Amino acid sequence: MTMIEMKRVYKTYKRKNVATEALKGIDLEIQEGDIFGVIGYSGAGKSTLVRLVNYLERPTSGQVIVDGQVLNDLSDSQLRAMKKQIGMIFQHFNLLESKTVFDNVAIPLVLSKKPKDEMKKRVMELLDFVGLSDKARSYPKELSGGQKQRVGIARALASNPKILLCDEATSALDPQTTQSILQLLKRVNKEYNITIMLITHEMSVIREVCNRVAVMEAGEIIEQGSVLDVFGHP
Ligand code: ADP
Ligand code: ADP
Repeated sequence: MTMIEMKRVYKTYKRKNVATEALKGIDLEIQEGDIFGVIGYSGAGKSTLVRLVNYLERPTSGQVIVDGQVLNDLSDSQLRAMKKQIGMIFQHFNLLESKTVFDNVAIPLVLSKKPKDEMKKRVMELLDFVGLSDKARSYPKELSGGQKQRVGIARALASNPKILLCDEATSALDPQTTQSILQLLKRVNKEYNITIMLITHEMSVIREVCNRVAVMEAGEIIEQGSVLDVFGHP
């Protein structure tokens, strides 16, 4: 089944008198169960692509279809429901510094008004999954970068998404920590059956975890296919 599809997607940012064509006719297909990498230099349009899937940005033209729903056609309340199907993790983790690890992971569950005992059980399950059960009462500033990203992953999984979007999620981490986060993403994909879309500027990251890849350059996808077809054997 196709999980994420884009058809002839264009995105132009207009600021004052300056128009930037960030995406110029993107056609993309990500299947359920894929770990799909998007690679390209800074400015290629990768973040814009991810923000369109999450509907933080609207396309200037073209269609964005997620889990069979044409996002362009949805009402605001339908969109809010769709967004719960999508988790996201970030380069700089985006944790709330004033909240404990437990409370950071609980945010999506508090927002969706889950009963408190159910919420606690789910948070502790997720912390166990990411290997941070003993850090529930710690604050983000007490954690290493890798531990912060594990919290980010647990929080992204809290609302049971079908899709996890990773925006340069290992770019702030050293190679060894990157490895451990990538192994965790593989477990997210397999054990929770979550489709992953991962953007990066590092080919090594794509080779390590992705089965398919799109190469972006100046707002266009210049190649798309299996990692072995696109990059060849290492
Ligand atoms: P990447 O993630 O590959 O670095 P982006 O999607 O962030 O690429 O950016 C693609 C192009 O769109 C760049 O030229 C960037 O300057 C421009 N751009 C991105 N976001 C905005 C914005 N909010 N307003 C104006 N221009 C933007
Ligand atoms: P209250 O009812 O006053 O909110 P809680 O017992 O729900 O108190 O939580 C108090 C704090 O303890 C929370 O802010 C949270 O960080 C932490 N906490 C809650 N449950 C757990 C747990 N199972 N393990 C570790 N820390 C927890």
